Amino acid sequence: ASGYTLLRDPHHNKGLAFPEKERDAHYLRGLLPPAVMSQELQEKKIMNMLRQYKVPLHIYMAMMDLQERNERLFYKLLIDNVEELLPIVYTPTVGEACQKYGSIFRRPQGLYISLKEKGKILEVLKNWPERNIQVIVVTDGERILGLGDLGCQGMGIPVGKLSLYTALGGLRPSACLPITIDVGTNNKDLLKDEFYIGLRQNRATGQEYAELLEEFMFAVKQNYGEKVLIQFEDFANHNAFELLAKYSNTHLVFNDDIQGTASVVLAGLIAALKLVGGKLSDQKFLFLGAGEAGTGIAELIALEMSKQTKTSIEETRKKIWLVDSKGLIIASRKETLQHFKKPWAHEHEPMRTLLDAVKAIKPTVLIGSSGVGKTFTKQVVEAMASFNKKPIILALSNPTSQSECTAEEAYTWSEGRAIFASGSPFNPVEYNGKTYVPGQANNAYIFPGLGLGLIISGAIRVKDDMLLAASEALAAQVATENFEKGLIYPPFSNIRKISAHIAANVAAKAYELGLASRLPRPKDLVEYAESCMYNPVYRTYR
Ligand code: NAP
Ligand code: MN
Repeated sequence: ASGYTLLRDPHHNKGLAFPEKERDAHYLRGLLPPAVMSQELQEKKIMNMLRQYKVPLHIYMAMMDLQERNERLFYKLLIDNVEELLPIVYTPTVGEACQKYGSIFRRPQGLYISLKEKGKILEVLKNWPERNIQVIVVTDGERILGLGDLGCQGMGIPVGKLSLYTALGGLRPSACLPITIDVGTNNKDLLKDEFYIGLRQNRATGQEYAELLEEFMFAVKQNYGEKVLIQFEDFANHNAFELLAKYSNTHLVFNDDIQGTASVVLAGLIAALKLVGGKLSDQKFLFLGAGEAGTGIAELIALEMSKQTKTSIEETRKKIWLVDSKGLIIASRKETLQHFKKPWAHEHEPMRTLLDAVKAIKPTVLIGSSGVGKTFTKQVVEAMASFNKKPIILALSNPTSQSECTAEEAYTWSEGRAIFASGSPFNPVEYNGKTYVPGQANNAYIFPGLGLGLIISGAIRVKDDMLLAASEALAAQVATENFEKGLIYPPFSNIRKISAHIAANVAAKAYELGLASRLPRPKDLVEYAESCMYNPVYRTYR
């Protein structure tokens, strides 16, 4: 291959870091200025440049350009500056990027499968240059973060999530495949937007939708085998639950919005108990929002309580209440409820507002998963603080604009007593001379390690017990010094170590359940997980 091609191949390009010997051996003489830079110096240069941008979206665009130009440098940057760059390649900035994806579109990333490709999906998969795929993140763009239907422009999400699989979980970039399934969009603004990149039609539904997905799922299995992990991402809940149920017995599937969220929130709750005292089963839970996140979390909490107390899940579910857009979910509504809400319809009189429900139920834990911002009002937080010494308040809705309340509001309105975490990041808060550090219940704690654990064990199915194993591993990584600041999640700076521990616990569970195909089982799974992780330091070419 020519040196010119090498410089344009993001998997191998090192830019000015090509040493003299490689410049000779690979026909690079003259194609680069004379200076030779180390990867560290390149990293410093790019971080300097990124820090001059005032607009997060510009940092996002610069990062995407870097990924297209020099993959190893991109991942080195992301790993070494994870706390700074995570909010760029992931929520909240990735949300803005998706909204404007058409206007900022330069080179395509990932694979697009639209209704036009019906009947040809296997051929489309074969157009992708990599054969050896381990993880697919796929969206149909109908519920991007809390931003709604962004159609084909949802591609930013699978791209971003997979870059985290690599940076945080150590999966090889070439083994990761982002896919957007375009069945149209019901977003009127996008349909009118001249720069929109997707199919200009309303969403296909029913049989037409189901057939495209069915073809996709079986083409994937045919092309990549049984052990490829398919992560469903940001599907609307009317499809998400069904797809997960339908394919969980035939494929290695995982829905991050339902299961990943559940696992990360359960981990936070397990950790929070160290601050609050008592057992999980001593708590009473109230959710605002009964969709993928809300009911997914609720179900995993109920499962963990039922394991801990050795009672039936029907019994433990009674400690959990949910409010949806029509008020408290109660037995008298059962007939009209979507199936995923039915397990939560307990006997109670109707409660229209969250505040009424909070006052009536008196929860110890309040979880926001509605996608609607500013819904944990001063009155709601004050009520929580009136009957709890340390109310646990999780405002999970993303992006920041949709957060149920801010960290500052939670701490001020509870007079510094709330144990608070949120979906989008908030800065530390000063209150009455004390600094409170809010945790971020970020799915990025869980899915990279979970995925790594599935891959290294050669798991063929995802089971709830593996999610519990992931939660327990994450909660165990919160250190005393974190708790002292009110944190219920460990700092992201240790994320690769955290991911290795999660991976090991998940893999151990896969072996225990007889679902692991990589035999024999490695003795030390943490060590093995670490040894499998991709490292973005430049390699020497001979
Ligand atoms: P979803 O499936 O669409 O569910 C939204 C739920 O909120 C539905 O039950 C809906 O009620 C309810 N709702 C909407 N408006 C409401 C209102 N004004 N009052 C009360 N309830 C209302 O969405 P999802 O996937 O669960 O995601 C919800 C939010 O959680 C998003 O903002 C997402 O970004 C966030 N999230 C955060 C994390 C994290 O922090 N790690 C992870 C996943 C998701 P109906 O059922 O009556 O329509
Ligand atoms: Mn998501």
